[in-house]
Amino acid sequence: MARDESTCGESPTELAPQTHLVHAGARRSAYGETSEALFLTQGFLYPNAEAAEARFKGEGPEDSFIYARYGNPTVAMFEDRIAAYEGAEAAFATASGMAAMHASMFAQVQAGDHVVASRALFGSCLYVIETLLPRFGVAVDLVDGTNLDDWAAAARAETKLFFLESPSNPTLEIIDIPAVAEIAHSVGATLVVDNVFATPMFQRPLQLGADMVMYSATKHIDGQGRCLGGVLLGDEETIRGPIETFIKHTGGAMSPFNAWVMLKGMETLELRCRAQAESAKKLADAVAAHPRVARVLYPGREDHPQHALAMRQMQAGGQVVSIEITGGRDAAFMFLNALQVIGISNNLGDAKSLVTHPATTTHQRLSPELRAELGISDGLVRLSLGLEDAGDLVNDVLRALDQAGG
Ligand SMILES: *Cc1c(COP(=O)(O)O)cnc(C)c1O
Repeated sequence: MARDESTCGESPTELAPQTHLVHAGARRSAYGETSEALFLTQGFLYPNAEAAEARFKGEGPEDSFIYARYGNPTVAMFEDRIAAYEGAEAAFATASGMAAMHASMFAQVQAGDHVVASRALFGSCLYVIETLLPRFGVAVDLVDGTNLDDWAAAARAETKLFFLESPSNPTLEIIDIPAVAEIAHSVGATLVVDNVFATPMFQRPLQLGADMVMYSATKHIDGQGRCLGGVLLGDEETIRGPIETFIKHTGGAMSPFNAWVMLKGMETLELRCRAQAESAKKLADAVAAHPRVARVLYPGREDHPQHALAMRQMQAGGQVVSIEITGGRDAAFMFLNALQVIGISNNLGDAKSLVTHPATTTHQRLSPELRAELGISDGLVRLSLGLEDAGDLVNDVLRALDQAGG
């Protein structure tokens, strides 16, 4: 590739996504390093007072920085790389997925506005919407995300934002993103999609009609269980406007070190996600007929109630499989405790396979009624497939199911 290696190496857009994962956004120092440099610096020096003044007026040279809470070269490499991969005009990286989600709300609404969200959300996202927004005078409606009539009925003139997660955690429900986007746009609202479970590899919400996408980069983007991170992607005007202004003044910036880890993670994102999704499909197929399994939830299987919709908007079924074990909480605990390869954790998207019992951990805060409504039974377990040998994972799960009580 012939290009000026000393400056910001913007990849031509016609390249395949995997090439963007390796090259996009690279900024090389005078040393021409092959691996992206870690600019572990808070501040930046100006050649003279006039240059400092110009930088603060936004009239500095292109690709120049002021302070790491506003931006940093390593963080900018990560932002440009994921924006190129996602096909978004712009990205702003944050300290965690929740910093991104929080900014997507608080940078865009004010008292008197209205927000509509699907009920089956990651717990902290639900807290921000259900508990925090109303404290600041924002009205909120939570709907059954799979029911388009619910979305349409909730939308009104004051509605500023729609927020959804698909597939949802932990029951892997699929929400029709193009249809919800259309309803949002009919009242002039913006649709934000939490795309963590689907990953940027398997689902492109912006191309499906959403206006903004958020990731917890903590999950598959790092992919190896090391750093927290998040990112918001969307159009240049919104990301460089209200989103950047909000995050740079409220302090949710991504650390340059974490950005460097995420950059390295992105190089292998497709390889990892593909392998994990293959293992997930194998596992889902292998356990479906087991006598201890009441139902297996995997969007990539034909028995998933929304399989057709999943395959319309996703490239694969994803890396997470949920299983409902007969025998309730006791059987689920026996299953978790019998696993030898797969670790018990609330996390996901790691190279290590992890299992969660949502009813007693991530979703224990919810009332039993709401858990029942969301399909989070006491026998439900969520498996995040890692990079171990698929046969070892299937054997581990089958053996633990055999031991999960009678
Ligand atoms: C983990 C997660 C988040 C929050 O991300 P953090 O990086 O932990 O702040 C939000 N949504 C979903 C679906 C997640 O899995």
